[in-house]
Amino acid sequence: EPVIKVEDLTKIYQMGTQEVRALDGVSFDVQENEYIAIMGPSGSGKSTMMNLIGCLDTPSEGMYRLNSQDVSELKDDELAEVRNREIGFVFQTFNLLPRTDCISNVELPLIYAGVKTSERHSRAAKTLGRVGLGDRIDHRPNELSGGQRQRVAIARALVNNPSILLADEPTGNLDTKTGEEIMMLFEELYRMGNTILLVTHEDEIADHARRIIRLRDGNIESDTRVENPVLED
Ligand code: ADP
Ligand code: ADP
Repeated sequence: EPVIKVEDLTKIYQMGTQEVRALDGVSFDVQENEYIAIMGPSGSGKSTMMNLIGCLDTPSEGMYRLNSQDVSELKDDELAEVRNREIGFVFQTFNLLPRTDCISNVELPLIYAGVKTSERHSRAAKTLGRVGLGDRIDHRPNELSGGQRQRVAIARALVNNPSILLADEPTGNLDTKTGEEIMMLFEELYRMGNTILLVTHEDEIADHARRIIRLRDGNIESDTRVENPVLED
């Protein structure tokens, strides 16, 4: 069974009397430990698709199975529960609490998951170690560089061992060199077995993935294997 199975996934937004078909019958599977870049021009449906895959929203039509569970018609509270258990999010703008120390930022998903304090602390510290910030756990994000902030955000996304890691333009606010370092970290996470979907506008970033899905006008324009990834297997 694939981790993600979507069939005829459709999202229609109502704008007054107008219907916008932001996604128009998209189908694909994602197997465990795939590394996929989602590309496409502005307005092609990338955010809409990531919101559906990330269980932030439900489709208007079509089916979405996440680890064999049909999540297409869940109520908001059920959806939130699946989201907290299954999905790790990484954003362009990091979305950290700037004045709260790194370890507390990383512990947040574990609080939602009901993990007890001592275990939360040790798991968060260990995960910060994995992203190379073992010596920064007491720092606040506003005392860190952009690349370090994104590492904290990646630790927060990973701490609950999610089934999939969803990253929306994770290098969009970083200079080229720092962005490359973050892509090295994604490569490492991929090699450790994580399943990664990442939205990007940049070919240089997408070529780190092993598969590229291009959207256009709410449809899949192409779904191709990356022949020569930046880092070979
Ligand atoms: P991206 O994810 O590509 O950076 P956004 O998702 O912010 O961009 O927006 C992409 C397009 O969707 C834009 O044209 C924007 O105007 C439109 N859009 C986003 N959210 C809404 C909304 N709530 N209502 C109407 N249009 C929206
Ligand atoms: P992308 O992320 O590729 O830029 P989006 O998924 O944001 O694309 O948008 C796809 C289409 O859906 C666009 O035409 C956009 O204007 C529209 N759209 C996105 N969100 C909303 C919304 N909340 N309400 C109405 N239209 C929306």
